[in-house]
Amino acid sequence: MSSPKSPPVPSSSTPSTADLDRRYLWHPFTQMADWECEEPLVIVRGKGAFLYDADGTAYLDGSSSIWVNLHGHRKGAIDRAIRAQLGRVAHSSFLGLTNPPAAELARRLIELAPGGLERVFYSDNGSTAVEIALKMAYQYWRQRRTDPRPQKSHFMHFRHAYHGDTVGAVSVGGIELFHETFRGLMFPTTQVEFPYCYRCPWGKTYPSCSLHCVGDVEAALKTHAATTAGFVVEPLVQGASGILCMPPGYLSAVADLCRRHDVLLIADEVATGFGRTGRMFACEHESVQPDLLCLSKGITGGYMPLAATLATGNIYDAFLGRYDEFRTFFHGHSYTGNPLACAAALANLDVFRNEAVLERLPPRIDHLWAQLRHHLGEHPAVGEIRGRGLMVGIELVRDRATREPFPLAAQVGNRIGRALRSQGILLRPIGNVVVLMPPLSITRPQLTRLVRGVRQAVDQICTDS
Ligand SMILES: *Cc1c(COP(=O)(O)O)cnc(C)c1O
Repeated sequence: MSSPKSPPVPSSSTPSTADLDRRYLWHPFTQMADWECEEPLVIVRGKGAFLYDADGTAYLDGSSSIWVNLHGHRKGAIDRAIRAQLGRVAHSSFLGLTNPPAAELARRLIELAPGGLERVFYSDNGSTAVEIALKMAYQYWRQRRTDPRPQKSHFMHFRHAYHGDTVGAVSVGGIELFHETFRGLMFPTTQVEFPYCYRCPWGKTYPSCSLHCVGDVEAALKTHAATTAGFVVEPLVQGASGILCMPPGYLSAVADLCRRHDVLLIADEVATGFGRTGRMFACEHESVQPDLLCLSKGITGGYMPLAATLATGNIYDAFLGRYDEFRTFFHGHSYTGNPLACAAALANLDVFRNEAVLERLPPRIDHLWAQLRHHLGEHPAVGEIRGRGLMVGIELVRDRATREPFPLAAQVGNRIGRALRSQGILLRPIGNVVVLMPPLSITRPQLTRLVRGVRQAVDQICTDS
């Protein structure tokens, strides 16, 4: 503690990163009053699945630096691609100009994406990818040549949905803790109940429910289809609300209902895309073809900010016309089509192909789930372990039999995160859900260490909470 009389720090001394951070920064989703009292972890380098602090302590990056990293840190192929592009040009505008990595990446994304998607619109984060999809869907219905329907101007989304933090993305969000404050700023939407089976909103018990829940979507579409432009969904897995999973067949049922009721299906694969669920895109598991597809997070392998909104030819065509018809999509960002980010994304896709990343995932996924069952399956504080591929949520409960949750104020998740850090593991639990989202490149011994670490932290924190 410094006393009022302690001499001022001489201006010649270099302040530490921690000092500068606490003096000048404001962190996302962080109570800064707490942050200012803590010693921040300063990451100075990374390699593979590990991040290192200034003292050289290694931390297993169990959340893929919040769901973005795929092939580990300092991946040679991506490092080289960015350097090579840097030797040409770092950035040029996409207004009236184009560039080779952006054009080539668009072709590769269209080749990889579910059928029917024909055009790529770039931006630089997941929230803007969703904003763009919403605005495209809205404008599309106004401009259809054969049957314009401007009254189709509303959106549907699920309860517990997370689509980003800008105002449009927040409007289609369904997480009360994050979104309720901004209610007055948001446009009205229709929120549909999500089949959170462990805490079934209809009081059914999975698997005897037999997709009862699809009836809710059908009823909502029947009532609101005439005024609804699109239905925004996180395919298979709602990530940010705690890895809530759709029951099998649910996604394709929702997609069919949207098609039948003439409502655009907007798939937000910002979290699920690029291999996390075991396939390149989650939609593939149920052969779903969305009208708009939002991609970001893993698109550059976790290297640079980039996002893409993919649209069908049908949607694209509705924006064509003579200039003075003003059918243009008046939207863009300063860094649209950034060549460095697109070069990183191309290298990311090369890694998928050259290293057969998806083909080599199944044994890793099986190992992870076997470890989870073994170390946590019967734990009294573990209510449910759920997820898809390498996306896992472990919901902790005070009472396994009654499913009574820990009160949020007990901050069980936060405390587990801290306990894990002292073991050299980085995870960021969400509420009472411990989320594992390791890089696709994580090895089996590293997965074992990750799950054992979680077991130890759960033992330590949950027995006295
Ligand atoms: C992270 C996320 C977003 C927002 O992406 P940002 O890059 O953080 O703006 C949108 N949708 C989903 C499903 C996400 O997981």
